[in-house]
This record gives sequence, structure tokens and C-alpha cells, in this order.
Amino acid sequence: MTPGFSPADLENVLNEAALLTARRDGKTIMMEELEEAVTKVMAGPAKKSRVVTEKERKLTAYHEAGHAVLIRNLPNSDPVHQVTIIPRGMAGGMTMFLPQEDRSYESQNHMMESLVHLLGGRAAEYVVFGTKTTGAANDIERATDLARKMVMQYGMSDRFGLMALSNASSQYLDGSAMVNCADSSAAAADEEVQKLLSTCYADAIRILQDNRTLLDDIALYLLQKETITGDELMAYINADNKT
Ligand code: ZN
Repeated sequence: MTPGFSPADLENVLNEAALLTARRDGKTIMMEELEEAVTKVMAGPAKKSRVVTEKERKLTAYHEAGHAVLIRNLPNSDPVHQVTIIPRGMAGGMTMFLPQEDRSYESQNHMMESLVHLLGGRAAEYVVFGTKTTGAANDIERATDLARKMVMQYGMSDRFGLMALSNASSQYLDGSAMVNCADSSAAAADEEVQKLLSTCYADAIRILQDNRTLLDDIALYLLQKETITGDELMAYINADNKT
């Protein structure tokens, strides 16, 4: 569950796990505590006491189910560890992946799939409730960041081809990428980013509309159980594939 973690992160995880173990008067750290500790370090502590209205729970369930349904169209995705609607940190719910390895290279296909998946939460809100909420703010930020890198750094747009328009982020500055092109190119790049995002969003909406029953089933299951494991999710998706 922890590719990409630094030694300090791992130390943090074990420390959290030890605290959780002590809280139940345990003598040995068990897998359950480790899993909770990893989630806590990645996403902040579970806020089981946070008051969530029934309407918000339903919205969150559909939002996460939206991400989850799109897994079926992500053949290159890492396996899902769990999908949950228990609030953590700033998030109302989350879909956690089990990365299989520390990946250094990403393919264009995989990045396009990631964009569709990231926009799946907002797409589900729109398909089911016809609304847009702030719950997708983090998804949108991540999707925009990825789309911008594809256009400006990775040479993946038709319009600019292999031309890099920004330099990778400098560790000496604030970490943001440095734009390295004419203002007119930067404006055109914005249009490319926007086009990429709206294409992927349209894909997400179409897939969710085509799989509405599966979306409803997973959302309902989340409302009942709050957390659904990756295996349970795949069982739903595979059963649906057969029908
Ligand atoms: Zn989301």
C-alpha cells in the first residue's frame, strides 16, 4: 500500500499503528492497525463524529460510486483497495488504490484513463442529481494539473506536438512549473487543457449513463456499508459484465 512513501512517512505509519494498538490494549501491531494508519497518513484521520446530512451522504455515495464504476473502463489502473464514504480530512469520501509498484513512467493511455476516472465523481453528481458541488474541487485540481502537464511538458497535444511550453517544477522555487513560451502560446495551451478536460468529462458522463444500474447498485451498497473493499467492487463489476 505504500509505494512512494519516504522513510519518514513509513515511520509515521508505524507510529500511528502503535498508537492505535495501544488504544485497544494490544501488545502486537496487527494488519488492521497498519491499514488504518496508512489511510490516516495518506488522507487524514476518519471523522466519524462529523455530522453529515442524509442528503450529503447520498451525494458522496454517488460521487464515489461514479469514480468506482469508471474503474471498469480503466484496464491499466492499479487495483482498488477500498471505496469509502466515511469523511477523512477535507474529503467526504475516497477511493483508494493499491499501487503495484513505484512507477517512474506513465503512458498517455494511462493518463487519459486517469483523467476520466478523476472526473467521474463530478460526472456522477451531474448524471444523478443534475447539480455540481464543491465535493469535486480536489478531483478537478488534480485533473487540471495532469492535463496541463500532458499539454505543456509531455508533448501530448496535437497543437504543440513535441514542444515543451513549461519547465518541470524547480525545487528551488515554490514547486510550480515555470512557463517558458510566448503569452499567445500559453493562452492556446489553456484552450488545449480545457479541451482535454471536457473530452474526458464527456466520456465519464457517457460511461455512467450507459452503466446507470451499476452506478445505483454501488451507491446503494456504499450507503448501507460505508466502506466497500476492492474485491467487493470487482465482484459487482464482473457480475455486471456478464449481464
Ligand atoms: Zn472525487
